[in-house]
Amino acid sequence: MDTSLQTAPPPTDAPYFAAHDPVALCANRALVRMREQGLQPVPHNFEMWYAYYAQSNLDVVRAIDSMGADPQALTDQRCGAIHQEFLSNAHEGEVARQATATIQATMDGFSSRLAQAKTATGRYRGALEEAAHTLSHTDSVLAMRTTLQSVLDSTGDMIAHNHQLAAELERSAQAMQQLQGEFEQVRKQSLTDGLTALPNRKAFDAELQRLWQEADAQGAAFCMLMVDIDHFKAFNDTFGHQVGDEVLRIVARTLQESLASGEMAARYGGEEFAVLLPGRDLQAGLAQANALRTQVHNMLMTRRATGEKIGRVPVSGGVAQCCIPESAQALVARADGALYAAKKNGRNRIASAST
Ligand code: GH3
Ligand code: MG
Ligand code: MG
Repeated sequence: MDTSLQTAPPPTDAPYFAAHDPVALCANRALVRMREQGLQPVPHNFEMWYAYYAQSNLDVVRAIDSMGADPQALTDQRCGAIHQEFLSNAHEGEVARQATATIQATMDGFSSRLAQAKTATGRYRGALEEAAHTLSHTDSVLAMRTTLQSVLDSTGDMIAHNHQLAAELERSAQAMQQLQGEFEQVRKQSLTDGLTALPNRKAFDAELQRLWQEADAQGAAFCMLMVDIDHFKAFNDTFGHQVGDEVLRIVARTLQESLASGEMAARYGGEEFAVLLPGRDLQAGLAQANALRTQVHNMLMTRRATGEKIGRVPVSGGVAQCCIPESAQALVARADGALYAAKKNGRNRIASAST
């Protein structure tokens, strides 16, 4: 008798879970989408699509939406990359696990070497006490020579133990230094945008907070600028998301190269960039923002392979000066509002937020 179970695949729109709560709804959508897209039914694909439909991770939503209407773009590989970038703590977890193991091994090695050194020191002290006793109770030259020889031998042992201890210490210091380097690398990665290599939103938020505190304490002026590429969705639809990715990299590099030291450009998300301009009031911030916009717009992009003209990249921007006691979030909201006004007034321009 054939005992194997045969189940027909559910139709595309059939739910996997017959429940009506939002969790089941998102799970159904995620599973249906994975099947339709021909993706492997592996946990990280499910986690990513669930996060997308539940809108629980906006970076994931943006990354997927950035692929536009091209279903070919969302391969297993691309999904894996999105998961790795925004949902996976696997890399950090692996580094932490390895670090713990290294620290444990180093401590074990070092404490066993210390225990040996302690025993050797005890033995050495015993040998010295015995020698002192013998020397104070004998007149025999031979006995004195034998005792001194044994003291010399014990001293030689002690020196060897100390060398081993020093070598163990050196090894421990090197292992700790290497660990420090690895942690620093992970820290940098967690603050860097994978596509453009600019500081990411987390790094931007931290720097904004730092500037805000400085302005609060010292009354120094600073501005922030929110930049958004115009009609980028249509651009992707025309040229493909890979060319779109390249444009994001070029815009990022142009912004980065146009800034003075102390200023920061970050990828805020999708096709949005945020710039911090310390020491500038609204007028100076607006002038700088216009210079940046012109700089980006001056680039005439062509496809390297074919020479085909891609055109210029219009961007809109909103600039706002920080007005304490408003919060850093309120400043971002005002810059956003100005960006919205720039879009509404025709795009390819900068608007400033009133205070
Ligand atoms: P607007 O002028 O109003 O800003 O129009 P828009 O089309 O730029 O804005 P919309 O919010 O409609 O679409 C944003 C687009 O940005 C959608 C997505 O295709 C694109 N995008 C976001 N992130 C990425 C990315 O990492 N790579 C690529 N290639 N495109 C992205
Ligand atoms: Mg946008
Ligand atoms: Mg846009």
